[in-house]
Amino acid sequence: MKKTAAFVLSLLLAAGAAAQQYQGQPPIRGVVDTTSRPTDRQGKGVFQFNEDGVYFSNEFDGARLNSIQRTGPLEYTIAITPENEPINMSPWYAFQVWSKAPAEISVKLVYPEKARHRYTPQLSSDGLQWKPLVEERITEEDKANTEGGATARPKSVTLRLQADTKPLWVSGQELHTSRRVFGWIDDIARKHKLTVSEIGKSTGGRPLKLLTLGNKSGKKAILVISRQHPPEVTGYFAMQSFVETLAADTKLAQRFRKDWTVYVVPLMNPDGVDGGFWRHNVGGIDLNRDWSDFNQPETRAVRDFLKQRAADGGKFYFGIDFHSTWDDIYYTLDPKFKGNMPGLVPEWLEKIQQAIPHYKPVIQPSDRLEPTTVSRNYFLKEHGMEAIVFEIGDNTPRDLITEKGKVGATELMKLILSKSAP
Ligand SMILES: [Zn+2]
Repeated sequence: MKKTAAFVLSLLLAAGAAAQQYQGQPPIRGVVDTTSRPTDRQGKGVFQFNEDGVYFSNEFDGARLNSIQRTGPLEYTIAITPENEPINMSPWYAFQVWSKAPAEISVKLVYPEKARHRYTPQLSSDGLQWKPLVEERITEEDKANTEGGATARPKSVTLRLQADTKPLWVSGQELHTSRRVFGWIDDIARKHKLTVSEIGKSTGGRPLKLLTLGNKSGKKAILVISRQHPPEVTGYFAMQSFVETLAADTKLAQRFRKDWTVYVVPLMNPDGVDGGFWRHNVGGIDLNRDWSDFNQPETRAVRDFLKQRAADGGKFYFGIDFHSTWDDIYYTLDPKFKGNMPGLVPEWLEKIQQAIPHYKPVIQPSDRLEPTTVSRNYFLKEHGMEAIVFEIGDNTPRDLITEKGKVGATELMKLILSKSAP
């Protein structure tokens, strides 16, 4: 028998089932002040340690290295700080290191008082192909004795790295800057003859790109967004696979696109991504707290686009916002809130579970719709979209993420088509 991807996936999941699953954060209550606040300007440059012949750089998009100190021969401590505070604990880092002659170096990553080390270092020699640093080369320091989530993380880590004459990239997750995301958008658009447009500019003047799939003059639409939070690359991977499945030349996807339009904003926060930010936009704000006041241009662009589409007769049935957190988790809304296709989200999650044996995702419904504050609530409240926040774990195996995006898109198309059958 041919081993299907779903089968392999079920084995991976069964193996991980024993580990304690992250149960999610409590729902956001009340309005958050999203008036712009200052963010740091990270000093950029090459940091030279001529006595060792070792050099570090943060002179590239997505980099974060705030300061560095030599603590001994071939030993360095890098301080990572956020763009501003208060901020969630997602300490992003990315830097390059190289040396005059091959050398084993030790790099300690330290964070501010309230933060802990979160992201397993990913290494690359070209900035495109990445693989995680092996566990044996990571020493964790000051780890709290708790299970799962933020407090189980170490206060600092020391990495043993092999420096060489060519730069080694070290990054919290695979580096997908605006340039790379826009490259993906152009590639998929060219391959499937899709439309790329701009719905506005970010605070820093970068384009907010919109990818359109399917029936351009249709009335029935769904919305996909991702990367409100810069380091959340695994959610972005799921979004890519989800969208690629919707755009594919399969019978199902072709049938779906005949009547339906899919709008995708793959990169909500390009400034934050290129600035190597932990969470916020250049306005110093968590964009996913701005869906009731709309003080930031990034959220306003999506709001205005949706309003325009609705005014032109478009009707949205589904909205999905991709993120990353400690573990895979779905933040849904209580079924008592009914949009334009009631029951779609719970039925969809049920179908995904059936399609992937042994898969028991954590599903956390919110019983609060207003104030809208987060994208999901705004999508349902203003446009009747059945809406969900789709979170992928930081360390979820990459092939599993691809499979989840694919299964998710396939089951969604089938379900929407069956629910909207004349
Ligand atoms: Zn997020």
